[in-house]
Amino acid sequence: MNILITGGAGFIGSHLCKTFLEKGESVTCVDNFITGSKDNIKDLLNNKNIRLIEHDILTPLYINDSIDWVLHFASLASPKDYIAYPIKTLKSGLLGTHNCLGLAKAKNAKFFFASTSEVYGDPLVHPQVEEYWGNVNSIGVRSCYDESKRGGEALAYAYYRQHSIDIRIVRIFNTYGPNMQIEDGRVVSNFIVQALKGEDLTIYGRGNQTRSFCYISDLVAGLLKIMSIDYKLPLNLGNSCEFTVKELAKSVLKLTKSKSKIKFLPLPEDDPKKRKPDITKAKKMLNWQPKISLEEGLKKTIGYFREKLG
Ligand code: NAD
Ligand code: UDP
Repeated sequence: MNILITGGAGFIGSHLCKTFLEKGESVTCVDNFITGSKDNIKDLLNNKNIRLIEHDILTPLYINDSIDWVLHFASLASPKDYIAYPIKTLKSGLLGTHNCLGLAKAKNAKFFFASTSEVYGDPLVHPQVEEYWGNVNSIGVRSCYDESKRGGEALAYAYYRQHSIDIRIVRIFNTYGPNMQIEDGRVVSNFIVQALKGEDLTIYGRGNQTRSFCYISDLVAGLLKIMSIDYKLPLNLGNSCEFTVKELAKSVLKLTKSKSKIKFLPLPEDDPKKRKPDITKAKKMLNWQPKISLEEGLKKTIGYFREKLG
């Protein structure tokens, strides 16, 4: 198969490139490196089955060769980045998705959209089932991301209805692991980097908000499985073990044996109070479930950052 991955030099994208190459597939990695890094893929570039196209997906992309799948993962993904670049973020989910769907249509390829748990906003239904339509503030600071992904889902569906493009939509819940950037800004990488540097861990608010953290290998296994079945409705993928942010901070301190202290900073606007995926559908349809506990995943991620920080 020829698989094109936008955002292929990012955290999730680089793991996908690696996995497909290991399976003997051909990979086209498209990235503009706004948050991704060449370091994430430098070892992969020795493989004859990968090519890198440095390209901003806000501009249409034309490819001569055949393509079987377009996997659209390019987007600003960390709240710190998307709040700083709201227009770019909206464009990645809307214009970028439109361009990728156009490419999929031209190549008669299947289209895969990396959506997010953020489509549920600050959820009033817990855990979040796919049928829940969400609680998003359409003009809040997070709306650039949430609405771009909601719009991306709508675009994918419009192409499916009007042009019969074969689509997959996965709503990814907080995923972490190696290949996240030191300065990524999301909570797991922030806490680990702070703990390893001996800096205060920055908890936003009182730390009672919850998230459910999925290790990257579990997510990738689920993403691959949904590509192998015919299912066009949005599907949640993530780990359903829920932790408060304060519990996460304590686990990181324990596992790094760090002497760092905790400091409390203001809670960002519209920060969801709780988040946990209902993964009943994914379990049943994909015969999949996460295997890596938070402790195990944190240990692997701590090892990665320890090496990266030198
Ligand atoms: P990331 O920032 O590590 O990766 C995103 C990649 O996209 C980067 O390499 C970046 O340079 C690239 N990119 C951004 N805009 C681009 C553009 N206009 N043109 C070309 N490349 C561009 O983030 P990630 O965590 O790997 O996220 C990947 C995808 O998964 C995103 O679409 C994100 O919304 C989605 N997602 C991730 C999570 C998570 O917990 N990691 C959760 C939900 C959804
Ligand atoms: N958070 C925190 N300290 C940090 C970074 C994030 O307390 O240094 C909190 C953030 O306010 C949110 C949760 O951790 O409640 C998860 O944040 P993240 O940026 O990882 O992603 P989100 O789930 O909000 O998209």
